Amino acid sequence: MTTHDDSHDPHTLRPGDPGYDEELAGFQTGFTQRPDMISAAATADDVVAAVAYAADAHLPIGVQATGHGLPDTSTGGVLISTRRMTEVRVDAGARTVRVGAGATWGAVARAAAPHGLAPLNGSAPSVGVVGYTLGGGLGILAREFGYTADHVRALDVVTADAVPRHVTADSDPELFWGLLGGGANLGVVTSLEVGLVPVTRLYGGSLAFDGRETDVAGIVAAYTDWTSTVPSTLTSSLAALVHPDVPAMPPHLRGRYLVSVRIAFTGTAQEGARLVAPLRAALGEPVTDTVREMPYGDSPTIHADPDFPHPYYGDSVFLDHADAAGIGELFTLSGPAADGMHVVQLNHLGGALSRPAPNAVPYRSAGWLVRILSPLGEGGREAARAHHARAFAAVADHTVGRSLNFAFGGGDRTEGLHDPDTRKRLADLKAAYDPANLFRRNYNLR
Ligand SMILES: Cc1cc2nc3c(=O)[nH]c(=O)nc-3n(C[C@H](O)[C@H](O)[C@H](O)COP(=O)(O)OP(=O)(O)OC[C@H]3O[C@@H](n4cnc5c(N)ncnc54)[C@H](O)[C@@H]3O)c2cc1C
Repeated sequence: MTTHDDSHDPHTLRPGDPGYDEELAGFQTGFTQRPDMISAAATADDVVAAVAYAADAHLPIGVQATGHGLPDTSTGGVLISTRRMTEVRVDAGARTVRVGAGATWGAVARAAAPHGLAPLNGSAPSVGVVGYTLGGGLGILAREFGYTADHVRALDVVTADAVPRHVTADSDPELFWGLLGGGANLGVVTSLEVGLVPVTRLYGGSLAFDGRETDVAGIVAAYTDWTSTVPSTLTSSLAALVHPDVPAMPPHLRGRYLVSVRIAFTGTAQEGARLVAPLRAALGEPVTDTVREMPYGDSPTIHADPDFPHPYYGDSVFLDHADAAGIGELFTLSGPAADGMHVVQLNHLGGALSRPAPNAVPYRSAGWLVRILSPLGEGGREAARAHHARAFAAVADHTVGRSLNFAFGGGDRTEGLHDPDTRKRLADLKAAYDPANLFRRNYNLR
């Protein structure tokens, strides 16, 4: 077995070393990792060295940037921490950005804005660009521009043989296909080049309704009806949660069950107001209304995701059809009557998301994605899972699969994350590039 003399290596941390626990700290606090070695990588060469060490020693490899998508609890092996690899370089002429493995969407949005450009980021600026994009990347403008993975031009990746490779759709079409949608199974991405879009402003925000006063199934039905009237330049979702009754919550939200429509539209404010008017007419007076003209930099306020680390378990299902009755039942089951807190979200898909692309992002014809995110309480993952099983049963007849990006803490379950043909093709690639399954601290597609 190969030994690794890291006694003088500032990039290597072992249990008990100063900085070991801090290096592991991330957004998800519900699952713990205790690797035998952390490679606190600063460069692609550090990643090559860590992969070579793990390959020689037959150790499993995990990767962490921000810790939003931690797959599970784990012990032993090698963890490659990419948080220092924060390069963000915008090429305004080419409308692309090259990012290091540790870059976040917030950093990219800030770098792109002075050039009149925006990235295809999701709801939270603290999420990592690479982890998000390898899982597809469902952005706030997704119906207009498609999955973020569809805009990737090139990836630098270290495969299990510790070889760094520059991968484009031309240089290695099959590996390019599999990296985008296959998650972390085929290598450690050290940098990525992805397209930006000429967007500087939006008409968007959130309309929140009181779910205790209004029948939530009725809101679901009105929302799904309304989506059939909007163009693909309007991306929206519906979210419901009972806000915790704790002092940290603003008084007007404490204990309240709010059901919110979140909207991002790149057309004019006048046209946006015209498109949203029928929804307002159908749903009546909202509790809060933040829909407005805004600079793109304010777009994180649309979803207002929590920005503090916490424990959570999450899962999702793609639906082929807007089964408003089934979705309404799922929302009702997960509302105030449920055991524990559950955040339910319904994303309207279609538009550019259904366009084919040379990557492994599946379920392009799905019309809807339903997500449940459950903060972990006393019953832990099993209690959250039992609730999810009951709730997702309400839409079973229209379920076609699950989303890799919205599986949180469920690394022991990979069924349905890809359709059978995509899964088979990914498994063949995995067998060719990682026959020893070194990259298995993930949603493993052995
Ligand atoms: C609050 C919140 C909001 C979110 N919003 C959206 C959204 O709007 N749209 C969307 O599509 N997703 C969204 N996500 C999901 C998010 O995209 C995934 O959880 C993603 O995996 C997070 O990547 P990360 O690097 O931030 O997290 P990490 O936990 O650091 O990484 C997650 C996983 O990605 C893989 N990975 C990370 N870096 C690399 C690398 N360099 N090479 C190979 N594999 C790597 C690893 O498997 C790792 O376990 C959200 C998640 C949260 C918690």
